[in-house]
Amino acid sequence: MVEANKLLRELKKKAKEDGIPIMSDKGIDYLTTFILKNKINTVLEIGTAVGFSAISMALVNPKLKVVTIERDEERYMEAVKNVKKFDLEDRITCIFNDALNVKLDDKFDLIFIDAAKGQNINFFERFSTNLEDKGFIITDNMKFHGYVDMPEEEIKNRNLRGLVRKIKEYKTYLEENDKYETEFSDIGDGLAISTPRID
Ligand code: SAH
Ligand code: MG
Repeated sequence: MVEANKLLRELKKKAKEDGIPIMSDKGIDYLTTFILKNKINTVLEIGTAVGFSAISMALVNPKLKVVTIERDEERYMEAVKNVKKFDLEDRITCIFNDALNVKLDDKFDLIFIDAAKGQNINFFERFSTNLEDKGFIITDNMKFHGYVDMPEEEIKNRNLRGLVRKIKEYKTYLEENDKYETEFSDIGDGLAISTPRID
């Protein structure tokens, strides 16, 4: 475990140097604590990058299994390499594909959405059928580095403005969703925690 922690620190450092947008420390702390508290044993992750969050989740719960999807080939290859380094091949399955082309039959205790921010509604709609009845869907980057709370006219970049608008739309979609109840948290880069409504 000491070895794993050291490896994880190295992985985090390298990912940051390479400009890979891995989850913030506070976000990861929240996610791993959430996994333990809610006895999460199966996770579907959309957006592997190089495997940092998948590996962090697997390390905190030795029973945990993760299926994680990445569409960027180089990142996927790096993730596979990292998973091997941690000896987690039997618990972390990496899929190389665009998540919007992936159809899964399994059910998961937790679905973690952390991929293209403009596609969140599509990811949510596509994979919510893979959620266990008492499962959770957690979405990262709801604040998108603070831009979501900024007046729109202050965001000069057109693409960025479009992306922020999409995140706001997703927020409204979650707020108005009558099948899921969502809590928004300011932790890290902002998280949305959704769970099926029981009526
Ligand atoms: N969860 C990772 C960070 C993911 S960064 C961590 O915290 O360690 C977001 C990743 O999602 C990027 O690597 C990007 O290539 C990937 N991505 C974006 N859209 C995707 C899609 N439609 N399908 C699969 N992967 C996608
Ligand atoms: Mg993220």
